[in-house]
Amino acid sequence: MGAKTGENFDIIVVGSGASGGWACKKLSEAGVKVALVDAGRPLLESEFSEHKPDFELKYRNRAPEVVTRTRPIQKLFCDEFNYQWFANDLEEPYTIPANMPFTWVGRLRVTGGRTVVWGRQSYRFSDLDFKAASHDGYGEDWPISYADLARYYDQVEEYVGVSGLAEGVPELPDGRFQPPMAFTCAETLFRNRVKQKLGWTATIGRTANLTRPLNGRAPCHYCGPCHRGCVTHSYFNSAFTTVADALKTGNCTHVPNAMVYKVLMNAETNRAAGVLYVDRNTREVKEVRARGVVLCAQALESVRILLNSANRQYPTGLANSSGVLGHYLMDHIWVGGGATGEFPDLPAEPTLNGPNRPNGIYIIRFRNTASGQRSKNFLRGYGFQGGGSSNFNFKALGYGEAFKQAVMQPVTTVGMGGFGECLANWDNYVELDPHPYEVRGKRARYD
Ligand SMILES: Cc1cc2nc3c(=O)[nH]c(=O)nc-3n(C[C@H](O)[C@H](O)[C@H](O)COP(=O)(O)OP(=O)(O)OC[C@H]3O[C@@H](n4cnc5c(N)ncnc54)[C@H](O)[C@@H]3O)c2cc1C
Ligand code: SF4
Repeated sequence: MGAKTGENFDIIVVGSGASGGWACKKLSEAGVKVALVDAGRPLLESEFSEHKPDFELKYRNRAPEVVTRTRPIQKLFCDEFNYQWFANDLEEPYTIPANMPFTWVGRLRVTGGRTVVWGRQSYRFSDLDFKAASHDGYGEDWPISYADLARYYDQVEEYVGVSGLAEGVPELPDGRFQPPMAFTCAETLFRNRVKQKLGWTATIGRTANLTRPLNGRAPCHYCGPCHRGCVTHSYFNSAFTTVADALKTGNCTHVPNAMVYKVLMNAETNRAAGVLYVDRNTREVKEVRARGVVLCAQALESVRILLNSANRQYPTGLANSSGVLGHYLMDHIWVGGGATGEFPDLPAEPTLNGPNRPNGIYIIRFRNTASGQRSKNFLRGYGFQGGGSSNFNFKALGYGEAFKQAVMQPVTTVGMGGFGECLANWDNYVELDPHPYEVRGKRARYD
């Protein structure tokens, strides 16, 4: 058994990201003594580099090897500016069966977790998501509905600061928005055409970037690369919002660099009693005690801790009486198909170093809607994220004077990529019946 921190807490929150930040804020503001135990190191404001040009970096952000040497997997989401916030893949390897490839990206090791680098797009689910099985017969409904969550969505959006445009489309409920960011000319044209020709709604991205001051945080000044931090705290990052609030109460003790690997149980009360962690700096095993443990260590890491917490009473891990812990993980499709088009007739005057809006546009789900037509060949729905802008023609070919002239010719483009739910792949396939889909307990095939 490792060394004890000596202090007894009411609650341990493991992880300081999106969920852990909220847990420690709410609990410590309610007077509960919280230990925030996090694998990440403290995030320093001096590390924020959103205003730093490439040429100030040692390798000008042009040498991918700098990142791939230690982050061969995380490289998908990081660069020379921010790779040190991500887990070192060599120090934290994982295994996968040969026939089940899985790229475990987005593993952060700083206070704030993924909210330090996230894309900030913030959308509400509707009952078409929560009660999807009732709508189309596939899978299972969530045990909660939109009405159960609506007031929490309100609370979170008002605190986080989500800018957006109310559209009154039931598939994507409107929220408590700060004023929306503006569309570009190309996006306005696109939005109007899409509505006119297809009846779909292309709205401005609902994004956790401020357009009005909030709790001492300044509105976004459109510098662009939020994934490198933000000195004005204008995007939502739990490190400088929820976690900072929790620490301010005096009820929250931050234990950084602490890789939790086991939840300790009190066999008599059958309740969690603390956690064991490895101090990432000293490699010592340490223990923290509390009356309860909240696991917010990211979906996969939390599951790993529960499996590692097996004991005599729970030999297959905690919260695993069903045996499904760690199985049936579903992710979402990311930029799965899309298109780009040019607007050659749109007048454009691109500039260098102009405003860089950290947001795009979003086409709201239009397929298999609550009241619309049902597709016979496709289940559920998806949205498109993208954007449109005018720029110099950096793809121009040639060299010399002609090339310089070609680069100066502006091009206006709009591009979109699909984001959708990934459905469970059942074992026995049956052909799909149209309405309603009769597939419960069998296997359906959706091409
Ligand atoms: C590049 C990128 C873009 C994204 N864009 C969007 C977007 O636009 N919209 C959206 O809704 N979502 C987006 N996401 C997803 C979103 O960031 C996550 O869903 C969200 O942060 C999850 O919150 P979490 O609290 O579960 O985990 P995280 O925010 O990742 O926090 C997990 C915390 O747990 C800690 N931890 C991990 N293991 C341990 C351990 N063993 N012991 C102690 N601490 C541990 C980590 O250090 C971290 O602080 C994006 C993610 C990435 C990586
Ligand atoms: S674009 Fe806005 S939110 Fe992002 S780093 Fe710049 S000021 Fe901050």
